[in-house]
Amino acid sequence: MIRDERPDEVVYKGSIMQIEQPGWYCQSCEEVVLDGPDSAVAEEAFVRLKADVDNLLTPQEVALIRKKLKISQRKASALLGGGPRSFQKYESGTGWVTRSMANLLRLLDSDPNRINELEAAHEGR
Ligand SMILES: [Zn+2]
Repeated sequence: MIRDERPDEVVYKGSIMQIEQPGWYCQSCEEVVLDGPDSAVAEEAFVRLKADVDNLLTPQEVALIRKKLKISQRKASALLGGGPRSFQKYESGTGWVTRSMANLLRLLDSDPNRINELEAAHEGR
């Protein structure tokens, strides 16, 4: 088997994303062996594609927006909802943001100071 990177695609709901799939390719048959990092290439592409198709956010995008708001994962969960460890799940890729959470985060991304209003309301309770 030889180490190579070959064109492949990931598919979600009929949408296709082209990728260059690294892996071990047999020189005499169609066999391909992917190790962990090789598989991650396709998995990350799938997450990107699903986020685009379903109008959601990737784990990286969620983390970027939360950091822009200058709040911890725990605080983000308390202020924005989704459950006690929701942001840990979103950012580690073990749980997807809902469409409504994605929309809320997009609004906060374009106007980060508005997190203060949610914080004031939270503390006022
Ligand atoms: Zn073979």
